[in-house]
Amino acid sequence: MKKNTSPRSVAFIAGLLAAVLSTLIIAIASRDILISVINFAVVLGICYLVFNYLLQEFVYNKIKLIYKSIYRFKTHNPKELKALDKNINDPIETVSKEVLAWMLENSKEIDQLQKQENFRREFLGNVSHELKTPIQSIQGYIHTLLDGALEDKKVNRLFLTKASKSTERLIELVDELTSISELEGDKSPLDIELFDLVKLTEEVLEMVENLAKDKNVAIHFKKQNAKIVIVEADKSKIRQVLVNLVVNAIKYGKSGGQILIGYYDMDKNILTEISDDGEGIAEEHLPRLFERFYRTDSGRSRDQGGSGLGLAIVKHIIEAHKQTINVRSTLGVGSTFGFTLKKG
Ligand code: ADP
Repeated sequence: MKKNTSPRSVAFIAGLLAAVLSTLIIAIASRDILISVINFAVVLGICYLVFNYLLQEFVYNKIKLIYKSIYRFKTHNPKELKALDKNINDPIETVSKEVLAWMLENSKEIDQLQKQENFRREFLGNVSHELKTPIQSIQGYIHTLLDGALEDKKVNRLFLTKASKSTERLIELVDELTSISELEGDKSPLDIELFDLVKLTEEVLEMVENLAKDKNVAIHFKKQNAKIVIVEADKSKIRQVLVNLVVNAIKYGKSGGQILIGYYDMDKNILTEISDDGEGIAEEHLPRLFERFYRTDSGRSRDQGGSGLGLAIVKHIIEAHKQTINVRSTLGVGSTFGFTLKKG
């Protein structure tokens, strides 16, 4: 149908066709010009009125009603709805445009929902997989103890200690999952304060002292660092960031290696960098490193007690501060993780 085809023009064309056809038949049959002319005028008039009425009543008004119902979803303004009556010249054209726009919008929404669904499925799969490993280990030790090892003094304590280690791992995992869901759900608003980042780092280094000793890793501050570095941030969350990054530097660093911590004044921000001289990370992994459950070498990282959530938590925390986190790494040379914080 042509653009701007009104019920009147459609009715006129239909009436004209009916009038021409009927007049031809009458003219051939009666051979009377007057009767033919009268027939032409009467048929054209009646057909025009009937078609116009039918189209207006049963097609156009109904389509207008459909259009108004669609529009009601978009606006609740009665003035706009009233103005619609005047503005719709061709309801068929308008409705088809509206339906097309609606389809495009819907297909975008469906795409997004599908992505979310895949993400949810993948996340659930990862969570259950991560939980299964320590649970199966605890179950294994308990069964072995119940099957007789409980009375064997040589192994009973060892198995209980191992089961207890797996329980700790389980709790750690659940804590990390809780952290992630709180950070994502905005349930954990930032508690911003001014504090000394150097002092906080020293506290963290004390916490991880044993881990570093076990791996014979030395942790140093860069010589040119300022003695006091005041930042404006959520102290307990930044403690978590430092713990995760320093623990990773130890875990994936070289045995007998060195970790360096540096602070750099970046005008409005302070950049903190933690560098290790460990195995490094291949370039192809870098873009996905901060995703939940992403590991460069899943088996080895899990052996080290890694869940693949640590860096995702770090990224969430830094982004909640509207700051940035980045990583540079060279395979076999080491990695440097850096994050910025607002200068206090
Ligand atoms: P995980 O609990 O597995 O350590 P993270 O989210 O903290 O999880 O780290 C994700 C992955 O990034 C790790 O599994 C490891 O492969 C890699 N990674 C993190 N930090 C380092 C680092 N300093 N050196 C080398 N690889 C690292």
